[in-house]
Amino acid sequence: MYGFSDADLQIQARARSFTDELIPLEVAAELNNGELAADVVAGHAKRARELGLHAANMPADLGGGGLSSLQQVLVQEQVGRVTNGLAWVVGTPPSWLPPVATPYQLDRFVLPTIRGDAEECYAITEAGAGSDVDAIEATARRDGDEYLLNGEKWHVTSYNTASFAFFQAKLAGGAHDGEHAMFLVDLPSFGVSVVRTPAYSHTTSHHHPIVAFRDVRVPATHLVGAEGDGMRFAYEWFRFERLMVAARCLGAAQRLVTEMTAFAAERRVQGRPIAEFGTVAAMLADSLTELFAARSLSYETARAIDAGADVKVQHTQCSMAKLYASEMAGRVADRAVQVFGGRGYMRENVAERFFRELRVERIWEGTSEVQRAIIADQLVKRGVTALV
Ligand SMILES: Cc1cc2nc3c(=O)[nH]c(=O)nc-3n(C[C@H](O)[C@H](O)[C@H](O)COP(=O)(O)OP(=O)(O)OC[C@H]3O[C@@H](n4cnc5c(N)ncnc54)[C@H](O)[C@@H]3O)c2cc1C
Repeated sequence: MYGFSDADLQIQARARSFTDELIPLEVAAELNNGELAADVVAGHAKRARELGLHAANMPADLGGGGLSSLQQVLVQEQVGRVTNGLAWVVGTPPSWLPPVATPYQLDRFVLPTIRGDAEECYAITEAGAGSDVDAIEATARRDGDEYLLNGEKWHVTSYNTASFAFFQAKLAGGAHDGEHAMFLVDLPSFGVSVVRTPAYSHTTSHHHPIVAFRDVRVPATHLVGAEGDGMRFAYEWFRFERLMVAARCLGAAQRLVTEMTAFAAERRVQGRPIAEFGTVAAMLADSLTELFAARSLSYETARAIDAGADVKVQHTQCSMAKLYASEMAGRVADRAVQVFGGRGYMRENVAERFFRELRVERIWEGTSEVQRAIIADQLVKRGVTALV
């Protein structure tokens, strides 16, 4: 099925067996604030590197996996089957960075992320700027050979494990006053501090704190690309990450369909397996059908990227894949809870955990509403045939 090459099947099998090793640890993580022992996590990270799963999105000549988009989807789909962020050791460093990074930035930031010696986080969103990134109020002012950064960033995922942050700001003064720019900020750095670490719906060891940047000085060599380039990088990253969100949702749905089907076949009520009740059977059938549709859409989107499709078409198709796969996975998780009955409401049950965890897939990397706006805008501009 799907016309995979031998190389596709091999990387998929490696990601599958790695994920199978993580799944038995989910409940322990869930009941311990997402935490596993540090040596256990380090072991997972090492194994992910050995299997060629970490940095699979990065160029091979820099030591990354150099995988095709389709192969990256296959990897992320498999790791999407495990809850509690246990597979976040399979890192996807910023693949948009190498083409614009200086030799210093490559050496100092990019290569360590590929080796697994460094980890990045993104400080873009603010209290008043999420969907509308252009509304950010963070500032960057040039001061001699340095920039002075100020701002307060929200939801900074993995700040507690990261060794540097991408900080997006508007330039204050100079030829590009008011335009966006992106900076590399070492963590820790003087002037960077956690305002607070809110609790979120999912239970992972990676936190999403609100982080203050107060008069943080970075060398001018930490500017990514040129002044005014900041928004361009955000868009490139969104395109990649939206497809990877879709892929992980496929894996989650695959796991849920598998587990709820096994339960429905085994659980007997009034002497019959509940899978024989039409209303339960419909939940299974709808879930499988929607998974197949989302998977076909996501694989096709990846193949179009690998074939060099127009970048606007790629962008729109990634939005469609993210929109459909995240909403599909949400519906499947809701049905899975229902099929499991009372058991589906217990935190030790995979359906309960995914029911909470998958909710954010419709929010981060652009909400469903934002994806629909992108898709409709391109539809009006380009027409149906250009896009699907
Ligand atoms: C767990 C988590 C982790 C995150 N990690 C990071 C991170 O690492 N770095 C980072 O920078 N950000 C991160 N984010 C932020 C995330 O990208 C934003 O939450 C998201 O883009 C939505 O922005 P917002 O929360 O400000 O919502 P808003 O933009 O305030 O949106 C509120 C509502 O209005 C709707 N809406 C907004 N604009 C439109 C429109 N044009 N048309 C129709 N409806 C609209 C939205 O769809 C939504 O329903 C994270 C968020 C979460 C929850």
